Parts: sequence; C-alpha cells; structure tokens
Amino acid sequence: MANTAIIIDGKAVSAKIREELKKETEQLNKKGIKPGLAVVIVGNDPASRTYVNNKKKGCAEVGIYSEEYALSEETTQEELLELVDKLNKKEDINGILVQLPLPKHIDDKAVIAKISPKKDVDAFHVENVGRIMLGEYKFLPCTPAGVMELLKAYDIDPAGKECVIIGRSNIVGKPMAMLLLHANGTVTVCHSKTKNLKEVTNRADILVSAIGKAKFVSADMVKEGAVVIDVGINRDENGKLCGDVDFETVKEKASYITPVPGGVGPMTITMLLKNTIEASK
Ligand code: NAP
Repeated sequence: MANTAIIIDGKAVSAKIREELKKETEQLNKKGIKPGLAVVIVGNDPASRTYVNNKKKGCAEVGIYSEEYALSEETTQEELLELVDKLNKKEDINGILVQLPLPKHIDDKAVIAKISPKKDVDAFHVENVGRIMLGEYKFLPCTPAGVMELLKAYDIDPAGKECVIIGRSNIVGKPMAMLLLHANGTVTVCHSKTKNLKEVTNRADILVSAIGKAKFVSADMVKEGAVVIDVGINRDENGKLCGDVDFETVKEKASYITPVPGGVGPMTITMLLKNTIEASK
C-alpha cells in the first residue's frame, strides 16, 4: 500500500516565524525603529476586505504599526497616485501595500510603478522584479517566498531536483520559478498552452500548482513520492474552499503535500510582515 503524504502545516510554520518576527520588532523598538505598514484598499470587494483585515491583524500580532486607507470605488487614478506619493514620503511608513485587484478604471501598473521600490513590500515594482531575476533582492514576493519557507521548514532542498510549476503569473508562477532556480532546482514552467501537461508534471520531484482551478491536479499527474505545493485558492462544487490539487487522491501518492486552507495561504501574510520589518531596517 502507498504511504500517505506528510501534510505540510503552513499554520504552524507561519506561527513560528511570527514569533521570531515579534522578537525582531521588539529589538528594533529598543533601537527606536518602529516598522510601519500602510494598507490601501479601493472599493468594496469582500475578498479584498478579508485580506486587508488579516494583514492588519498580522501587523498587530508581531508589533508592526499599521494604517489603513479605505477609498471609495469612485476614487480616480490621480487621487490614488497622490496618496501613494504621500505615503512614499511619510516617515513612519516603511511598507506600502495597495490591495489588488483595483477597480477597472485604475491602471494597476501605474500605481505599482509609483510605489517607492524601498517601500514595495509586495515586491511588484519593476526594480524589485529585476532584483529577483538577478538574485540580489531585499524583498521577495510574498507567496513564492512563503513556499520557499515551507520547503525549508521541512528540510526539502530543491537543489538538483526537477521542479515543475503550473502557472506563469507575475505574482506567483514567474517569481516562484526564479526562487527555485536560485535554489538550484531544474525548473520547468507550464501554462495553458503547454502540450502533454501530464507528462511534464509526472517528471516533478517538486510540483507547485498556481492555476486557480479547483482540484485540477489529479493523482495521475503526480509522480510517486513527489512534493506537492498547492497555491490555488478556489471553491469546490459545494462552495467549500479548496486548492488546485485533488488533495484526497494526491496525498496517497505524494511524499509531502500542502493542504488548502492551512498550507501556503498563512505564509503569504507572514512574508509580508517579514518584508515590512526588513524595509524598516
Ligand atoms: P492567474 O494570474 O490567473 O494565473 C493562472 C495561471 O495558470 C496562468 O499562467 C495560466 O496560463 C495557468 N493555467 C490556467 N489554466 C491552465 C491549464 N488548464 N493548464 C495549465 N495552466 C493553466 O493566477 P495567480 O494570480 O497566479 O493565482 C493562481 C491561484 O493561486 C489562484 O487560485 C489564486 O487565488 C491563488 N493565489 C493564492 C495565494 C495564496 O496566498 N495562497 C496568493 C496568490 C494567488 P496562461 O498564462 O497560459 O493563461
């Protein structure tokens, strides 16, 4: 009989890192440094509201000062850019996070470009994206950084391993590929135009899925003993939260697997807190 995978506990890893971050802020406070994060939300998207609330809660937990700017759906691009400019200059703010997606009439690229790269704790600014490419970064994008921390916590070293990522978005797939490459993995990135996807994913020692399709990754796509990291956040046919991976069948084949919820998700905000503390130094 096949062994059942070890479940990677994102909540426990996240809690441990937050403990360390709390100690770090206490040390910084003693030196007169108070890390501060500004969170900007435009409009009334309920998912964005939940994310923003969780980010503020995370800040309070580790001793980061936070400010929220909740703007109406009708806010113009110019008004938002003005606010970002003001926050760029604000001395008690080290990190600026503009919650995406923005309303359709606002160009998110223009907004991200306006954020000072030194305060860009999401690491979306072209300067930080370029640094990730070179491997000379100060901030890492939170979700891929969270995945790397999970691998580290379970002593999974990507060096020399076949790493396959499904998804090539700028916030997950592409930076994930860079981080695994910097960690000496042999990296393949798949997307909607990939031919013979199953053949490619079956090569993976480490398989990362960031697609956004409920239970898309089935057991026949996974090599026996693979490490399976599920970034997806979806709803199944019953409206229940689930990942991209068919957890129940894949866990019988994988060696390690992240659940949804409780896997990658908790790590994302923790990495944001880490970046904010980094920015304050
Ligand atoms: P995205 O921008 O929509 O990108 C999805 C990627 O999946 C695209 O590259 C797309 O390929 C690829 N794809 C779609 N269908 C495919 C198929 N049938 N076969 C192979 N590839 C396929 O999504 P994202 O922003 O990266 O997010 C992905 C998922 O992660 C979502 O569920 C999101 O909610 C979740 N997420 C979670 C966290 C977290 O904290 N856990 C953070 C961010 C995102 P093309 O490029 O060819 O279209």
